[in-house]
Amino acid sequence: MSNSTGRLIVVSGASGSGKTTLCDRLERDYNCEYVVTATTRAPRKGEVNGVDYNFYEPDEFERRERAGEFLEHAIVHGNYYGTPRKSVESALARGATLILEIDTQGAAQIRNSKIKHTNLFIDIPDMATLEQRLRGRKTDAEETIAQRIARAHSEIAEGANYDFRVVNDDLERAVFEIAIKLSLTKKK
Ligand code: 5GP
Repeated sequence: MSNSTGRLIVVSGASGSGKTTLCDRLERDYNCEYVVTATTRAPRKGEVNGVDYNFYEPDEFERRERAGEFLEHAIVHGNYYGTPRKSVESALARGATLILEIDTQGAAQIRNSKIKHTNLFIDIPDMATLEQRLRGRKTDAEETIAQRIARAHSEIAEGANYDFRVVNDDLERAVFEIAIKLSLTKKK
């Protein structure tokens, strides 16, 4: 895949690292666009199809995957997630700076491909903060929270494979550090 004009930034972090909020802020304040990815998990309260995710039934996801529609895909917490190849390619072709927020398995697939990109890992200050954030979200069941905490340990270890790491201890500070590290330009 040629992406000579645009720029692809892959962002991962432990569940509860606040990476979605960070990416939203980057999109709001800097010249970059968020990639809407696909999932088979149920929408959370307030999530909109086509805005937060493209929500598919598992058979539809599998059909699209077989048709080669995803740049990468993975199973996360028992659901499929995948990056739509077409929307990434067309945005890069028109010169966009893209923020692709995906899990560490997906990021590894992109790292092992020929796709030119930079990757960034969002760290949490400590495990107690992660637990607090997951519970504070009040969207996930206790079993899901426990699953996410267990997974966070292995996700954090994966951070060593990324070009950049930023600790999300304070939203404003972390956004600023990311913008500097990735040379993002402020929106006018
Ligand atoms: P959530 O269900 O909390 O929105 O996301 C769960 C995890 O799936 C997060 O780590 C998120 O970064 C990841 N994710 C979202 N979209 C994709 C995708 O297209 N591919 C992969 N591999 N992971 C994704």
